[in-house]
Amino acid sequence: MDKDRILIVRCGEVALKGMNKPYFERMLTERIGKRLKASGFSADVKRHEGLIFVRYNHEINTDAIAGEISKVFGVASISPAVEAKSDMDDIGRVAVDFMNTLIAERGVKTFKVEAKRADKNFPIESPEIARITGAKVLVGCKVLKVDVHNPDVKLYVDLRHDGSFIYADKISGFGGLPLGTNGKGLVLLSGGIDSPVAAWMMAKRGMLIEAVHFHSYPYTSPRAQEKVEELARIVASYCGNFKMHVVNLLPIQEEIVKNCPEAETTIHVRRFMMRIAERIAAECNAMMLITGENLGQVASQTAEALVVTDASVNLPVMRPLIAMDKFDIMAKAQEIGTFETSIEPYEDCCTVFLPKHPTTKPKLSKIQESESKLDVEALIEKAFESREIIDIKA
Ligand code: ATP
Ligand code: MG
Repeated sequence: MDKDRILIVRCGEVALKGMNKPYFERMLTERIGKRLKASGFSADVKRHEGLIFVRYNHEINTDAIAGEISKVFGVASISPAVEAKSDMDDIGRVAVDFMNTLIAERGVKTFKVEAKRADKNFPIESPEIARITGAKVLVGCKVLKVDVHNPDVKLYVDLRHDGSFIYADKISGFGGLPLGTNGKGLVLLSGGIDSPVAAWMMAKRGMLIEAVHFHSYPYTSPRAQEKVEELARIVASYCGNFKMHVVNLLPIQEEIVKNCPEAETTIHVRRFMMRIAERIAAECNAMMLITGENLGQVASQTAEALVVTDASVNLPVMRPLIAMDKFDIMAKAQEIGTFETSIEPYEDCCTVFLPKHPTTKPKLSKIQESESKLDVEALIEKAFESREIIDIKA
């Protein structure tokens, strides 16, 4: 069957990439194609003059295929469109058909036409193209009136040298950059609200993701881990399938509790998490660690604590949420669909052995001194060796 429907996909920041623009557009086209294939949509995806065109068959639900494309990072917006020849008669005819469909489907009563002439050789200028098309629509769709201030529908005419497009809706994407254009990062993924958002934000900038999750079984339950897997699957619905390394931190936590001052427990635990993550990152070629840490959120995220945590590793630690307010992070979690899962009440390994009065201003030298009582390298190696690796599939 012919692919008789078309979506116009606009590239976001990709469009600003100067000399590298073709590379980013190619990557984005590839990502859209792969995503549609993986979700079972049969479509042709081609880029042309700074836009990406997706052709599909009318048996495919337009909202479903556009919804899938809107989750691809790098996509700014999508418009279901109809095609016309680049002459005023054909544009008028197609616009009338298009508007009649909208009248039938949505009870549209008022409209306004906006025209853009990409082909500057076309003899009629944009305002005139809009005027002529509007007049034809008024004649062809008797129930319609023009309202230039607050129309039910804005009808766009995009006139190009090799054909024109007519559309009304712009479905927003998330923008960002195509996945795979910015290396790979290892995210420390907990069951909380923050870290899935942090992973999503880095992936949105084109970074491929792999994850590590720490538990303290049997103090934490298998259900707590299932919750994290569910969160990981939601993240994967944007950034593709990935591996999640699952590490039991309990033996290390017990060593810390036995050997170090109680008030320092959390900061030691966090330094170990970072080091184990760094060990895994070396193995999976991740260039950075990613956390959902946020300045001042809890005792382990004061400026001093973050500095002491950072000092445990050599890899750069990305904290995309560092300066966000909790309400904004929560709103983002809702927008990307992780919030409801994140607020399910399951224990996290960080809440096991939580000190009553945690240090909020740890000193590196003092923390290192306490740590010297532990065989840090051996503990890391053991945790690393005994990790489990799970395939996360969206
Ligand atoms: P929230 O703050 O919403 O409860 P959170 O995931 O941010 O959730 P924090 O205690 O603030 O939890 O932890 C700070 C960061 O440390 C997390 O964002 C995450 O990157 C990492 N982290 C915490 N606990 C774990 C864990 N069990 N496994 C992996 N990473 C973790
Ligand atoms: Mg947090």
